[in-house]
Amino acid sequence: MSNADATSLIKPAGDGKMLASQRNLLVEGRFSVKFCIPAFGKVRRVIALGVVAGAFLSAALLLFGSLAEAGHTFLAFTAVVVATIATSAVLACLACRAARLTLVRRLSSLADVMRNAEAGDYQRRFPTGGDDEFADVERTYNALMDQVSGLAASALHSDLMVKWAQSEIRLREELMAKSNELASVNEALVRKVREASNLLRIAEVASTSLEMGRMLDRLGQTLVETLAVEELLVLMPDPDTGVMRVRQALGVLDKTIMEGSWPAGLSMVGRCSDEGEIQYVPDLSIDPIADGLRGRRRTGGSLVAVPVRGPAGTTAVITLLRREANAFDPQELDFLRLASHYVALAVSNATLYRATHERAIHDSMTGLHNRGYFMEAFSGEWHRARRVADPLSVLMIDVDHFKCVNDLHGHAVGDVVLKAVAGLLKARIRKTDLLARYGGEEFVLALPGTTLAEGESIAESIRRSIEEANVQHPGMEDKSCIRMTVSVGVAVNMLADDTPETLINRADTGLLEAKAAGRNRVVAK
Ligand code: GH3
Ligand code: MG
Ligand code: MG
Repeated sequence: MSNADATSLIKPAGDGKMLASQRNLLVEGRFSVKFCIPAFGKVRRVIALGVVAGAFLSAALLLFGSLAEAGHTFLAFTAVVVATIATSAVLACLACRAARLTLVRRLSSLADVMRNAEAGDYQRRFPTGGDDEFADVERTYNALMDQVSGLAASALHSDLMVKWAQSEIRLREELMAKSNELASVNEALVRKVREASNLLRIAEVASTSLEMGRMLDRLGQTLVETLAVEELLVLMPDPDTGVMRVRQALGVLDKTIMEGSWPAGLSMVGRCSDEGEIQYVPDLSIDPIADGLRGRRRTGGSLVAVPVRGPAGTTAVITLLRREANAFDPQELDFLRLASHYVALAVSNATLYRATHERAIHDSMTGLHNRGYFMEAFSGEWHRARRVADPLSVLMIDVDHFKCVNDLHGHAVGDVVLKAVAGLLKARIRKTDLLARYGGEEFVLALPGTTLAEGESIAESIRRSIEEANVQHPGMEDKSCIRMTVSVGVAVNMLADDTPETLINRADTGLLEAKAAGRNRVVAK
């Protein structure tokens, strides 16, 4: 086997890679055993050469013996010389072969290890212990590889450090981006939570009071606080004219604004009411929609008009003003849109409550307050009068012979007469007086700050005005008038042991006495 054959066993395959079997041998450390197999073939050649040399020498000696025995001394001598030369040549060849064998093996091993190192395997080392030049080279190689391994390790370490640093920078950047994303999500979340809590507050405030004025006041204050606005107005349509009028004002410095009204269609408030959509004026100083407001107030700032929509249309408009231009953002407008639903609910509840309450304290036929309301209000008035030692007169007024009206003209005409009497009484009273239908065709009138004499005089004036009035009814065939009279009992709160009830009873006693005395008269008690 040639040297080339020998090294081919550990040479990489055609594609430049080592065969798996070769790699396994390297890994398992059995390479040297395999490596020696081709070398063993060379040893055989050396042995063969040695045998050939021995044969030459033996043949020469035999020839020399034969020739010497035959007396051919010269020939024998020549044969010895030739045999010696031939043997020396074979031995020299033998020595060369042996030396080559050793050299090739060591060099091949060296080349193989170096090739591996070139391929990146810096871990293989030569066994140390020899003292020839090869061992020296191998030790030097080992030392070199130690250094290379160190350098490779340090390069690897540096490379890893760079990669680690790069990945850390990338991670930091990703973290930063995520953190920014999280911060904005968090900010949006905080805003939503704040909005939800403000909405809850508005809903809570809207439901805490059914009285319109108080509810609007508390709601206005909550809106001013939660939205940090400088001015707030609540405008509601006048029940008679439909014109928007200011019902509630917060933070408004210009008091004339309370007297102002915004006819529908002429201003942003009118448009807001008509269209039922939020109107936003980012800069009051330049927007023509705010023309209706100019002259009434300073021209700067931003203004929002929020419609409060009920089932039958706009029930109110809330305006919010900030003194800077462009001060409301779209989220705040959305929030106001949402909040307006709660306000609408509260306004509707308050309106309903007011209607129910009005029904509960009024007599539906005459429109006067009823007895229940009178007793409550009268009690309060009676206590107030006693506290401040004020006179308080009470008039009990009863229609004379009213039954006859019913009997003669029917109940419908009787109702008309009762309404007419109620109207006449209403026309005679002051704002501070308390008038109510006490029951049937009987009325009660409390007059704060009125003495018995003054009360008697007022009672007489009432009696006369009813006596002089002609009550007509379209259902009456002859179109004639019904002439009515009333009897009146009067009392005042001047007795030490009086109560609201005893005062009314005294007036009632006066009434009975007036009836007994012939009716159409006044009796003071
Ligand atoms: P007097 O002069 O003694 O007061 O006689 P009077 O007929 O007015 O009194 P009386 O108590 O005898 O009759 C009161 C009548 O009033 C009886 C009742 O039917 C009638 N009345 C009470 N409430 C109403 C009402 O809401 N509408 C009508 N049409 N009649 C009523
Ligand atoms: Mg009567
Ligand atoms: Mg009566």
